[in-house]
Amino acid sequence: MFKYKCELCGMEFESKSNRAKYCYYCRDKAQVQRNKAYAEKKKAGTSVPIGSEQKCPICGKTYTVTSGSQKYCKDCMKKQQQASKGKPSAEYIKENYDYVRFNVPKGEGDAIKAYAQEHNMTIKDLLLTALKEYQENHKD
Ligand SMILES: [Zn+2]
Ligand SMILES: [Zn+2]
Repeated sequence: MFKYKCELCGMEFESKSNRAKYCYYCRDKAQVQRNKAYAEKKKAGTSVPIGSEQKCPICGKTYTVTSGSQKYCKDCMKKQQQASKGKPSAEYIKENYDYVRFNVPKGEGDAIKAYAQEHNMTIKDLLLTALKEYQENHKD
């Protein structure tokens, strides 16, 4: 056992660890403080002050922040926007597709997923395939 003096309350205590800083009572408190400090640091890091110089995580160039949500330099932001143009927008999907959602008894969802995976299908493929086959077999 090693003898220590607690950095928070000054009480002497013993510990098996060879680098203890806090007594048994203060250890929890110290952890709470560390968590708090970490959370504050993290919070400060996410909101970028407007007008400040930041380094672009994509190209590495420094740029001046013009809006709070800006994460990249202007060039990289443009590229990002262009890249996302290829994907259909939520509006396009809304106009051209129906969204079908249904509930299955608890536990059966996984079974259906597993069955679809076994046949290299998504649940959607499975459903549409099943529907097609059903229609073919139930013609009047
Ligand atoms: Zn203490
Ligand atoms: Zn950039």
